[in-house]
Amino acid sequence: MDLQEWAKENIEFVGNSNTNKSSRQGRIPEIIVDHISEGTMSSMISWFTSQDNKVSSAHFGVSKAGKIYQFVAIEDCAWANGLTSGIENATAELVLKKGKSENPNWYSVSIEHEGVWAETKGVLTPEQLKATKMLHKYIIEYVKDKYGHKIEPSRETIIGHSEIDKTQRPNCPGELFPFREIIDFLINEGLPFKDIKGHWAQELIVDAYEQGIIKGYQDGTFRPDAPLSRAEGTALAMSILKKLKE
Ligand SMILES: [Zn+2]
Repeated sequence: MDLQEWAKENIEFVGNSNTNKSSRQGRIPEIIVDHISEGTMSSMISWFTSQDNKVSSAHFGVSKAGKIYQFVAIEDCAWANGLTSGIENATAELVLKKGKSENPNWYSVSIEHEGVWAETKGVLTPEQLKATKMLHKYIIEYVKDKYGHKIEPSRETIIGHSEIDKTQRPNCPGELFPFREIIDFLINEGLPFKDIKGHWAQELIVDAYEQGIIKGYQDGTFRPDAPLSRAEGTALAMSILKKLKE
């Protein structure tokens, strides 16, 4: 599916005139910063659109149900991950390299995820994970189109708020946040496995994976042409049987 079409169908812009934003000061987005909202989606929406909020915002929010809301345009600077407690509290390589006079909000796109760290430690619901993977992909594509800059997906460009401020935001987005899964998805161009692109059965494999019928190997491969062992055949039969019973 075309990403612009996807955005039209899946992203609802809810930012208003109260939503905090400012200029990127000529900088372009180079990193995506992931957050946990420490509350419900409705509290996030009301806070980011409230006239009482003079301190924070984010570009996007992803609900547990997998709905995506946008508060600030990617062209604008959201107030999500500044250096309020000093650059000595940052651990992200790129942030340290830019130094203390560069506000990370100028060169980042921020995503809030509905959730409470004490309950989830950063784990997303399946719907939320699926939505945020697509959202990361969309942001990368958007930035490439708009600024001619490709955000190469890695742990240096896709980071957590805690890597900008480990003192005030040590648990944002949480130690179990699925960075690896998101980055693998982006590197594999949205495919669940790294060795199925262009294979005659690509669509069938993706479909079966999304329906929970098949799994890949630990290394992110599916090995589409490898023979099926008796154990794998049994696992496959059982997962189909389970699916039929649902
Ligand atoms: Zn945060």
